[in-house]
Amino acid sequence: MSRQTARDLMETAYYSHYCVGAFNITNLIQMEAVIDAAIRKQSPVMIQTSVTPARFLRPEVLAGIYEILAHDAGVPVALQLDHCRDVNLCKLCIDSGYSSVMFDGSSFPWEENIALTREVADYAHAKGTCSVEGELGLVGGVEDDIFAEDGTSFLCPPERVVEFVERTRIDTMAPAIGTAHGVYKTDNPNIDLERFEAVEKRLNGRRLVAPLVVHGGTGLSESIVKKLVALRAATFNVSTELKHVLLDTTARYLEDHPNEYNPGAVDREVHSAVKNCVAAWMDKLGSAGKADERHK
Ligand SMILES: [Zn+2]
Repeated sequence: MSRQTARDLMETAYYSHYCVGAFNITNLIQMEAVIDAAIRKQSPVMIQTSVTPARFLRPEVLAGIYEILAHDAGVPVALQLDHCRDVNLCKLCIDSGYSSVMFDGSSFPWEENIALTREVADYAHAKGTCSVEGELGLVGGVEDDIFAEDGTSFLCPPERVVEFVERTRIDTMAPAIGTAHGVYKTDNPNIDLERFEAVEKRLNGRRLVAPLVVHGGTGLSESIVKKLVALRAATFNVSTELKHVLLDTTARYLEDHPNEYNPGAVDREVHSAVKNCVAAWMDKLGSAGKADERHK
């Protein structure tokens, strides 16, 4: 039961009214820490790699490690490629053993976004081991090599969502609702909850068609997170926070132990800090204790 697609995890979460965290990792220590947090919390979990670490570490290496760790974890774990605009890299990750990929066609014109997303979805579905996420509207900020300047991000039009999902055949859907990647410049970012609710109603009002993903979890207030979970967000993406935990913990350790030169000690410190951060998110999202949940 350990290896699952993002769609599997999200469907269960959707029907049981909680949300699964999707945590971006850039190295093995983080991947282990995220899975260890899931074991400690008995929570389902999604590991994500953005395009740069996927290329750098290679999809078959990442998928191979994922397979071993997920097999031993005893809790449901998905591995997803995050925000990829390269159809060929999506296909390589699908072939390598990722259980999910996100094709991000949000910066392409409407018809091109549909055609490319559909190509990835058809490829994944033919394999039968991988689900596909699509995005409509553009999430602001910086994620890996994707930049959306202020004013260039645009929000998901609810009236086009059903057509988008039907024509692309995606399994999970990311509507842009004003959340952003990176660090929010204000304490009260303008998150369009009504738009999220409208998208959810149109798409999944009668039956679940594609559970919704919220991007840009880092820095959102607990009340906004809880409101989105109540509105049936099935996944929350957390990336920037894990990068900060990794780098800040490393910097602090080196500062406190200037003469130690012990990489293993730094790894242990990072592992523990990432694990605590992820565990706290699992409590916030309501996924703790849900590892054995099955959707009814
Ligand atoms: Zn994102």
